[in-house]
Amino acid sequence: MSQQDERLAVLAEAELDTLAVRAGQQRTMEGEHSEPIFTTSSYVFASAQQAADRFSGDEEGNVYSRYTNPTVRTFEERIAAMEGGERAVATSSGMAAILSTCMALLQKGDHILCSQSVFGTTTVLLNKFLARFGVEISYVSATDFSQWQAAMQDNTRMLLLETPSNPLSEIIDIQQLAELSRKGDALLVVDNCFCTPALQKPLELGADIVIHSATKFLDGQGRCVGGVVIGKAEQMDEVLGFVRAAGPTMSPFNAWVFLKGLETLRLRMDAHSKSALELAQWLDQQSAIEKVFYSGLESHSGHLLAKKQQSAFGGVLSFRVKGGKEEAWRFIDATRLVSITANLGDTKTTIVHPATTTHGRLSQEARQQSGITDNLIRVAVGLEDIKDLKVDMQRGIDVL
Ligand SMILES: *Cc1c(COP(=O)(O)O)cnc(C)c1O
Repeated sequence: MSQQDERLAVLAEAELDTLAVRAGQQRTMEGEHSEPIFTTSSYVFASAQQAADRFSGDEEGNVYSRYTNPTVRTFEERIAAMEGGERAVATSSGMAAILSTCMALLQKGDHILCSQSVFGTTTVLLNKFLARFGVEISYVSATDFSQWQAAMQDNTRMLLLETPSNPLSEIIDIQQLAELSRKGDALLVVDNCFCTPALQKPLELGADIVIHSATKFLDGQGRCVGGVVIGKAEQMDEVLGFVRAAGPTMSPFNAWVFLKGLETLRLRMDAHSKSALELAQWLDQQSAIEKVFYSGLESHSGHLLAKKQQSAFGGVLSFRVKGGKEEAWRFIDATRLVSITANLGDTKTTIVHPATTTHGRLSQEARQQSGITDNLIRVAVGLEDIKDLKVDMQRGIDVL
């Protein structure tokens, strides 16, 4: 066995935290310890014969960076190992990951059954664009399993969901939906953005495909936009085929940033989760706060399920202040430390008013139905000291 093969054998048995810092790396002849960034668009062949073999696929290897790039591949292998999937395909954004999955695995006449509580742009992509190409879409209430069952059609080929959901932390039973999708010959696709493999492994629970916006917790430091799709080799071949042809490729620089993000993922997710739980419990005791939504609270309807399928509750919580939009805005504007921005999964805590930003495109009715009331505020807890975060939230409470 070569030294490289011995290393691979060791990693095949390794735990997530070890994979996070070591999986996917193949050192070059230079012996570099950290992963290099291969900023090259194309690759040189040893001969005309080799060029022909690479192009035909008879020989594996790099051809062009829209197809493969060593830094991007290192990221793909690392995240695939961490999610427990056979292969991963990196993309230029989380949305490109969702688009590429749909384009590669669906065709005209197919039906997508989607949770109502998915990322807003996901519904725009499905309703405005995919629908145009003859893909049928319907939505069901995330946590009502009977609705999922009732909405299954003969042509349902994909079930799409996020758990925990944004911003109310609704928890969906992945195992239960995996059984339903299998019965119907559909793929279960889970957007694992809020938990990451550090807290939840959808593939182990029976999902077929995991999608990430790497922009969020995988980077974890608010630097780059990117995405990734993880699953069986057979399906990832199709996804890679689409990415190669259509071009929403991840840049090698971004792949390197995400690689470095993965190395600290566990430490960050545990810290985000610890602070979010403490903040949620504290907010829950404040008389100016009407209700707190965080699956780590025992009062949350998804608490027991979250405990079963996640190792912690994640960094995102939301709460309703007493009053309406005016009070919510006043609360947000009184903060001085946290950042008013819709991004999440950053070292810096962010605060946002979902009804007028992330969920502003929905009708008032649709928002009410899904619980995104005008007095709701979402906080994505960063890595600041929890004492300082409480002081800042107190500033908001003081003006209510
Ligand atoms: C941000 C986000 C996306 C989209 O990812 P981009 O990287 O912004 O394209 C998809 N799903 C969820 C849950 C997200 O939070």
